[in-house]
Amino acid sequence: MTVTTDNTPDFSDLGLGPSLLKAVEEAGYTRPTTIQAQAIPVVLMGRDVLGCAQTGTGKTASFTLPMIEILAAGRAKARMPRSLILCPTRELAAQVAENFDKYGKYHALSKALIIGGESMSDQVALLDRGVDVLIATPGRLLDMFDRGRILLNDVKVLVIDEADRMLDMGFIPDVQRIVSLLPKIRQTLFFSATLGPEIKRIADDFLMNPKEVSVSPQHSTATTVEAFLAVVDEIDKRETLRHIIRVEAVKNAFIFCNRKRDVDILYRSLSKHGFDVVQFHGDMAQPARVEALGKFKSGEARLMVCSDVAARGIDISAVSHVFNFDVPIHAEDYVHRIGRTGRAGLDGRAYTIATPEDGKHVVAIETLIKAQIPRIDVEGVPALELSMEPRKRRAGGRGDDKGASPRGGRRGGERPERAPRPERTEQAPAAERPERAPAPERQAAPERPARPERAERGERPERPERSDRPERSDRRDRGARRRRVDEFGIGEMNHADGVTGFGDHFPDFMAREVPPELLVKDEK
Ligand code: AMP
Repeated sequence: MTVTTDNTPDFSDLGLGPSLLKAVEEAGYTRPTTIQAQAIPVVLMGRDVLGCAQTGTGKTASFTLPMIEILAAGRAKARMPRSLILCPTRELAAQVAENFDKYGKYHALSKALIIGGESMSDQVALLDRGVDVLIATPGRLLDMFDRGRILLNDVKVLVIDEADRMLDMGFIPDVQRIVSLLPKIRQTLFFSATLGPEIKRIADDFLMNPKEVSVSPQHSTATTVEAFLAVVDEIDKRETLRHIIRVEAVKNAFIFCNRKRDVDILYRSLSKHGFDVVQFHGDMAQPARVEALGKFKSGEARLMVCSDVAARGIDISAVSHVFNFDVPIHAEDYVHRIGRTGRAGLDGRAYTIATPEDGKHVVAIETLIKAQIPRIDVEGVPALELSMEPRKRRAGGRGDDKGASPRGGRRGGERPERAPRPERTEQAPAAERPERAPAPERQAAPERPARPERAERGERPERPERSDRPERSDRRDRGARRRRVDEFGIGEMNHADGVTGFGDHFPDFMAREVPPELLVKDEK
């Protein structure tokens, strides 16, 4: 396990009963982690807790163990759960549920997992029988509540897990509404990886005289992680990534992109290059997420391209590498991302691939972690320098982190101008320059492959010819067009006549009969 202290007490000193101690022993834990040692006695006393701890510190057991003890006495009524754990993602919720199974095996507690993407009727059936522990994502829980499937006025213990992630994902209004539906007299345990002012303000609303427990300084990265940063042209990022993966002994790795659509693009590119890779992001259907996670956990896929939100909270302890294919926009995400490796005392490596335009974000990260990320050169790829100029908005609308165009691809077949490489002679003398860490051992650089074709870089399916698809417009326009077509009288139209606006071409879709019910009278 990751965080322990020399004078950590034994599990038996924390006030847990014999059945729990047995389950903990069978889980293979010899000593409680720091957060467990701090939180468990406080939770057992019935006090509110404000916990600052990241995934990997053993924080889940720090609330599940005492909750099992507290809930051991008493029984749940139908549709009235006795405790509620709110999690930002389905995966985290599933992991919390697994924890209850593992530690609660000698207790007859019932639990239900209420998460999106799973059958609602199964979840309703469980609730109807009455559950001691309800683990839920906020959206699905409110959905159930609004359908009258659940009553929240018997909840005695509330856990809000990964509150900072809830904030990032815009879930706080949902959480606030849920909390307003709970009894005022309850015990609340609030966990967050960071405790910024915004989170503290939110915590203040939910907690009463909480005991603050926290592990590891807030903005530290694990000391067992070696981090490196390569600065390259946008167009060289994929090649840089592939090269590092090839020359490093990558057992398994998370590869982070800033945007969901880039996850998909990079995933397809890596697959095409023969890497065993899965992708994981919030827009994927639940079965696809489960399958991807399963493959990655079992080692069937060595690489997982993912977004921050999705990967947060996935508990895989022995990941050898983390790659930041994009420099995170929020410096704290850097800490979370690279914290996915170097866990449980194992060594890990984290590579960040930056473009010159990322200068501002790299500085923010280095300020946060109070260290410079050693720079490396990657064989076969021109090394560039960071620029402190703000990111330019590019044609096609790509702003800082929200844009419309795929990354790493040229637009319109044109090659963007490569930023001029700084002349070596223009660089500061070695003594003034930050020390470069020795580049990790490399084998001879593989031949730089020919620049990929545009179609491969963009990886986008070809658009159908404009003439084969209806013009994009809003529904009202479509209705209007249908009316216009009808006025013409399709049956009387001759293909050879052509159609206004289409030249000689007669598009197929216009020849399709329009069912009368689609000739909308009153579209809203
Ligand atoms: P968490 O921070 O809750 O995601 O836990 C991270 C990992 O640590 C999980 O795989 C737990 O099973 C494991 N773990 C939790 N408590 C302990 C402990 N006291 N000793 C060793 N491993 C633990």
